Amino acid sequence: MAKFKNSFFLRQSYQVIYGVTLILLIPIFIILNTVSSVSSFQKNIDISLQRQALSLGQMFDSTVFRYTENYDDLQDKVMVIKESNSSLRNFDVLVAEGESFKVVASFDESKLGKSRDDLNYVIAWHKNEAIGTLVSGVVETGSDERLWEIVLPLHDESGQKQALLSLQMSLKIMDELAKDTLTKSYVILSITILVVILLLALNTRLFEHALLFKKLKEVDRMKDEFISIASHELRTPITTIKGFLSMMLEGDYGQLNKDGEKGFKIMEASVNRLGNLVEDLLNVSRIEQNRLVVKAQPVDTAVVLNSLADEFDLRLEQKGLKFVRQIPEDLPQIWADEDKFRQVVINLLGNAVKYTKKGEVELIGKKENEQFLTIMVKDSGIGMSAEERAKLFEKFYRIQGEETRGIIGTGLGLWITKQLVELMGGNIYVDSIKHVGSQFYFTIPIYNPQLHKLEVETKNKK
Ligand code: ADP
Repeated sequence: MAKFKNSFFLRQSYQVIYGVTLILLIPIFIILNTVSSVSSFQKNIDISLQRQALSLGQMFDSTVFRYTENYDDLQDKVMVIKESNSSLRNFDVLVAEGESFKVVASFDESKLGKSRDDLNYVIAWHKNEAIGTLVSGVVETGSDERLWEIVLPLHDESGQKQALLSLQMSLKIMDELAKDTLTKSYVILSITILVVILLLALNTRLFEHALLFKKLKEVDRMKDEFISIASHELRTPITTIKGFLSMMLEGDYGQLNKDGEKGFKIMEASVNRLGNLVEDLLNVSRIEQNRLVVKAQPVDTAVVLNSLADEFDLRLEQKGLKFVRQIPEDLPQIWADEDKFRQVVINLLGNAVKYTKKGEVELIGKKENEQFLTIMVKDSGIGMSAEERAKLFEKFYRIQGEETRGIIGTGLGLWITKQLVELMGGNIYVDSIKHVGSQFYFTIPIYNPQLHKLEVETKNKK
């Protein structure tokens, strides 16, 4: 099961794989960088050691050979060099003898007087120049190391070549240093890989969470889709029922008796509630899926607010509430989506009526400055505490209490209202005191260039 889960996870969660790869890539890059630095460092060291070996030979040429007339003295000098230079593996002085060369001084005294043939000797002798060769493996000394083999002609005071110097300088110390650095890097890489593997193995929960997250996203998408489809499907029958109900109540199918009329009115109220709920759900899914179409147009705010107030007059009167309007006639025209603007005011007025038992409701329109209008809906209703206010604009949030019991709602109205206001470039605020009343107010730009852009974008999306 775990194996299946992991393989499913690996196939699905590219982000986690991507993350792990990045974690592994970092030490790999560090190692590659170290390897390339060490190898370029090693090359430089090789070259400088070659120069060192050469200059050692040249020093021997100019300072020692010149004053050494007999080979015993020369051998003494060579032995002094052997004592003082531990990286020299071989140091032979040879003189030409016909086609070959005879050893006249050497670190290895057993070689003295012996003849030696070597292509490098012949070339260095005839060309009268130094030859440097990098050799590796087991060379003369019997140890497995890299060596610079230098062959160079030695001259007397008059500049005549008299002998050959063949020396081998070991690169062992530098090679060991480079090897050591690389080994440390590999150890770091291995530890990092081990830690990553351990982390992944110990955190199988991470896989599970990644899986769960994916599934939740999928379920959420399916839920949105379902709500959207279901709401659409519910809309048509609700409209049909509403139509027939109003025809019945108007007596199109014969006069209803008192009980029948009462029953149909209850039915009408229920269907209206159902219709509002479906509208709310549709709005939520439109907003969440960025499908809300915004139509920017000139809106005569004074006219719209007054017509809305007229629509609410009767409801307020029926509830015994006073309705105060403060809508200046010269309230400027704004550039907004009229339907959305109306919906925002309707939601706020609807709540004010719903959550006010006595007193009054006010609708105030005000030009705040050259950029903004403020629309305020004030009531003397049940109010709310600061704690309740904090969550007010959350989706599905409803204040549960003695005073709200029996009041029907979904907790979606204010969430939708806030989204609409913000979509039109405004902000919404609330002030409230428990048992005293509330005031909701929102700002809306008089001209919103963003809305043009938004409109074009939404049109393109369609
Ligand atoms: P609904 O009214 O459908 O429950 P809303 O989102 O419109 O949903 O409101 C959320 C909650 O905010 C309401 O349940 C109510 O408790 C509280 N509320 C909204 N408007 C007012 C108001 N004018 N006075 C007091 N409480 C309010």
